[in-house]
Amino acid sequence: MDCTTYIERYLDAHVDGELGAVEAGAVEQHLKGCANCRLLYAEERAVKALVHERARRYQTPAQVRGSILAALDAVDSAAGNRERPQRTRRAALSALRSARLWIPTAAAAAAVIAFVIFHGGGVPPAGAVPAFDVAIARYQHFDAHFEPNVPSASPADISDAYLGHKMPGLLWNLQPSGYRLVGGRLDRLSDGSLAAFTFYRGEGSSILCAFMKAHGMQLPQGATQTVGGHSYYSYKGYRVCMSYYPRGDFICVMVSRNTMPHFVQDILGTSL
Ligand SMILES: [Zn+2]
Repeated sequence: MDCTTYIERYLDAHVDGELGAVEAGAVEQHLKGCANCRLLYAEERAVKALVHERARRYQTPAQVRGSILAALDAVDSAAGNRERPQRTRRAALSALRSARLWIPTAAAAAAVIAFVIFHGGGVPPAGAVPAFDVAIARYQHFDAHFEPNVPSASPADISDAYLGHKMPGLLWNLQPSGYRLVGGRLDRLSDGSLAAFTFYRGEGSSILCAFMKAHGMQLPQGATQTVGGHSYYSYKGYRVCMSYYPRGDFICVMVSRNTMPHFVQDILGTSL
């Protein structure tokens, strides 16, 4: 099974738990080897959970989904996409990657929990990973003193600022894990590319989320585990979580000093 077949033909039924045994086997097989489709599945589940949660409170599911998709289209047009947005599931889902969605981690966790893959001993990546080094250097600096250059600490404003600079506007909601959103920064890296840094502080620990251009970077070997498209590493005394966002070719690198189980738990907002 390839990605297109999975997305076009099976994703819907998979999310709804309506696959037959043979199809389910083929789907599991594909997702095992495909981080992007795992991420897609997790996001679709999260959106579905979000839609259901909001619908339960004040609208019909169709209205909520319609307004979410309309918001995604607006994001596309705002990003200067001259082509008419294709109203395919794939277009909607890839738009989601840069959408201003404050996905509750609990909902995301429920979606990804089935895809915890342990890679055994967790051998650290061989050699340096420049993207990790950049994120860790910032983390050390920000942990001592974080000064935002986005002039607001509200998730929506930070997301808007990132989107305004063609960066992904996706922020984690780490509140359920006890982390406060401190603020956001947009900075040029030494190669001239833009990076978005979002800093969170909790009781005794903090988390930095850095969005950077992937520039063809692959996931490094040596992840201790992969959960829903996010790969976790122990690197130079830090915990690092990396995910790839195909839309715009971005990577998200999250850094913490916490222990690995706590870090994974912080990000999922729930216990494994
Ligand atoms: Zn795939």
